[in-house]
Amino acid sequence: MNETPDIKVQSLTRFYILLLLKSKNSITGYQILKSLERDLGTTASPTSVYDFLKDLKLNGYIEDLKKSKSERSKGFKLTTAGKEFVDRIFSRFNNLIEIAIQSKLKICASCGVRLYEDYHTELFEGKELNFCCKHCAKAYIQSR
Ligand SMILES: [Zn+2]
Repeated sequence: MNETPDIKVQSLTRFYILLLLKSKNSITGYQILKSLERDLGTTASPTSVYDFLKDLKLNGYIEDLKKSKSERSKGFKLTTAGKEFVDRIFSRFNNLIEIAIQSKLKICASCGVRLYEDYHTELFEGKELNFCCKHCAKAYIQSR
């Protein structure tokens, strides 16, 4: 089997195009452009959208439903490989979002629960530690 390098999905526009392809049975380039404009409020350049679709097609991720050149565009449809590709991209994004959220979160130094806005800070051996509550802080300090 020929391993093709993954297509880079580094922009929200591309990500959204994949989402559209996944949620619709088939979609034309024109409908994609319209959706981007309506839902994201961005006017994507048609060239960038069609180039991305061309890459997807070259990789076997989408198929053109148009059977002959004279036919009007009927849109594109994800292939089985394309669906797997989209799922892979989506799970990667999910991980990124989780990491981004978690890096902003503080946890209680004693019990490990996530801390949101209200938490207790205590100075311990010159270090500022975060706790969910005074009791947790006390328990932590007593256990040291
Ligand atoms: Zn705690």
